[in-house]
Amino acid sequence: MLGLMMDTPLTLTVIMRHGDRNHARREIVSVTHDHALHRYTFADCFARTRRLANALDRLGAGADARIATLAWNDFRHLELYYAVSCSGRVCHTVNPRLFEEQIVYILNHAEAEWVFVDPAFVPRLESLAAQCPAVKGYVVLSDEAHMPQTTLPNARCYETLVAAAPDTYAWPELDEKRASGLCYTSGTTGNPKGVLYNHRSAVLMAYAGALPDTCGVSAMDAILPIVPMFHVNAWGMPFSAVLTGAKLVFPGPTLSDPKRLADLITSEGVTISAGVPTVCLPLLAHARDNGRSLAPLNRMVIGGSACPLSMMEEFRDRHQVRVVHAWGMTEMSPLGTVNALTPETAPLTGAALADQMCSQGRAIPGVELKITDDDNRELPWDGKASGALKVRGYWVCRDYYRLDGTGGAHDADGWFATGDVASIDPNGFMRITDRAKDVIKSGGEWISSIDLENTAMGHPSVAEAAVIGVNHPKWQERPLLVVVRKQGVEVSATELLHYFEGKVAKWWIPEDVAFVDELPHTATGKLSKLELRKRFAAYRFPGT
Ligand code: ADP
Repeated sequence: MLGLMMDTPLTLTVIMRHGDRNHARREIVSVTHDHALHRYTFADCFARTRRLANALDRLGAGADARIATLAWNDFRHLELYYAVSCSGRVCHTVNPRLFEEQIVYILNHAEAEWVFVDPAFVPRLESLAAQCPAVKGYVVLSDEAHMPQTTLPNARCYETLVAAAPDTYAWPELDEKRASGLCYTSGTTGNPKGVLYNHRSAVLMAYAGALPDTCGVSAMDAILPIVPMFHVNAWGMPFSAVLTGAKLVFPGPTLSDPKRLADLITSEGVTISAGVPTVCLPLLAHARDNGRSLAPLNRMVIGGSACPLSMMEEFRDRHQVRVVHAWGMTEMSPLGTVNALTPETAPLTGAALADQMCSQGRAIPGVELKITDDDNRELPWDGKASGALKVRGYWVCRDYYRLDGTGGAHDADGWFATGDVASIDPNGFMRITDRAKDVIKSGGEWISSIDLENTAMGHPSVAEAAVIGVNHPKWQERPLLVVVRKQGVEVSATELLHYFEGKVAKWWIPEDVAFVDELPHTATGKLSKLELRKRFAAYRFPGT
């Protein structure tokens, strides 16, 4: 027997209408290249979104065209999110920090029709436009006064297009399974792979992302997404904010400027922010060096790579900010687990609390987890057994875009292999040991590079640390610690290695330390172990 409830499809259009009607006066504040601080309301935003949808029709964009964006986090990018997806098209966010050949590959693979581009990235696109002949034209995210001179073919001005279009639009009734967004993984191995979101997955992610034990978003919040809108939809924040009526504060091109971020937090009353650990380091350092408070910030969502304990403690002890440690991936829209308090963990103190904080947390409702051994047998949730982490759920990808089953990451029974190695404790708290490809195997046993990095980051002289496995004649591989020291601080390799004693198993202690001026990062701001391994390819441990 079927139920007798309405079949209202789960579409972003419903979320947009809700935000427009119910949170019309909520503010969206943006830094952009042409505005020191642009400020308008949800109502203004969605009126312009309707104009933009008309403009897309007038440009002749196809019914399910992929509309690419190379843009910072700001109000125009938000308008694109909704106008493109709610008119039935696919908002295809491209990471402008990728290598040129990757951008070319992505635009061609997705068959992007139109590209909306921030002036900052116009020169990049000019040099590769000839290699993307299928692109019909480029829209520069600017007003006429700030339009750059450009050789881009068929270049238009965003503000002119929007101003010329009417502000009423008959949004189509969309199937909830219709594609809404497209985001490519960064392609650390091989070509980037496209993850094609649909309205249903985006809506369910928006609801789940706003839950109290996920990011806990409400109409009383102001959110500053430092995580770029080209990195898995800024982790769903632009959708959760419109759903709940939270104010949005966008840093635009200043997302790597810690002073500007701290200014925005205090002046705009930001309560929630989100970003990868690498963007938090300079923010904390800025606050520390200048004796600044980050009030009224009270939650910082950190994910994308393991959040060091020292970072969580500094946020908590110096700023009364709770770090929401989250794990996920592009293929998961991206949220998979979040470390939130439970009655079992709330009473913990001291070392037990510190240890608990390093867990990546529990599955968000809508996502199921399991860990398996090499023969795909499920392993127990005992906090000890560690194996391949697999997931399935409402917002997990079923396949990659136009790879037609060759992505190879799905089991016959539909579970998606994340490529991470993890353990899960009896309360469901999951802990990432490593990415499968970063695992260090020493004498047949695994050593967690994440745990070692976390420990090294606790040393007061360490600004950033990475651990990679290096060949060893006796042990097959041993860990090498690569460290960036804090400015003006001296610390020896011996001192650093001593620091590990008593904190990790003796045989885990790195074999040696290499000091560098900076560590390589990926286009999404994570440590690039691949690049680091290349740099240390010729390295040999002393005496080997
Ligand atoms: P890519 O880094 O390839 O662009 P994603 O941004 O989707 O792709 O990264 C997903 C991966 O990032 C996960 O599989 C995991 O290895 C890592 N990751 C994400 N969050 C965390 C976390 N909190 N702790 C440890 N690793 C994490």
